[in-house]
Amino acid sequence: MVQAVLFDLDETLLDRSRSVRLFLQDQHARWPGAWAHVPVETLQARFWELDAFGYVHKSIVYRQLLEEFDVRELSAESLIDEYYSRCNRFAQGFPGLVETLATLRERGLKLGIVTNGLTEMQSLGISVLGLTDLVDAVLISEAEGLRKPDPALFHLAAERLGVPANRCLFVGDHPRNDIDGARQAGMKTVWFPNSVAWIEELKPADHEIQSLPELLHLL
Ligand SMILES: [Mg+2]
Repeated sequence: MVQAVLFDLDETLLDRSRSVRLFLQDQHARWPGAWAHVPVETLQARFWELDAFGYVHKSIVYRQLLEEFDVRELSAESLIDEYYSRCNRFAQGFPGLVETLATLRERGLKLGIVTNGLTEMQSLGISVLGLTDLVDAVLISEAEGLRKPDPALFHLAAERLGVPANRCLFVGDHPRNDIDGARQAGMKTVWFPNSVAWIEELKPADHEIQSLPELLHLL
């Protein structure tokens, strides 16, 4: 029997596409002179292409954007700092997020979040999404000194929840970092495909969902 559900954050609970679009709208508006010749939609579209679902470092993304759009008034460093400190102020959840987690908790399941990223940025996202009091444990790679797909991070999450790994269900969008990592730690897995395509060499997840509320039927 499943006793705990663990979630990845970006592109699993947090809809990064919508969140980043809103953040870029804000970033564009904050520097109207510098971006005057670049429509906000163009900035959003090119950022999204270069960013590759968040897996390309922002220093590369912003340097490229400034060069391509010939923006001289801004430095990549200041824009990167803004990204880290402000992006998750605009965090948007996938439909049914809070209701689904609240219902799982009412059913007596322990809940946790395991995310690769910076402590301050990811904590802000979790808080803006209204999840701080809805989960029992949050593990952020920077704070823990471990990164997914290292099974040690998944084991640590299970330990924090006081549930054996084989009684945990892990929900994530990344085939290797989330699904394969959790499987190697002995957890059951649910793939919520929102970003990268399945990696053929990996063993498939136990389940696949197209929306968060579908979890309520699985458990
Ligand atoms: Mg993710």
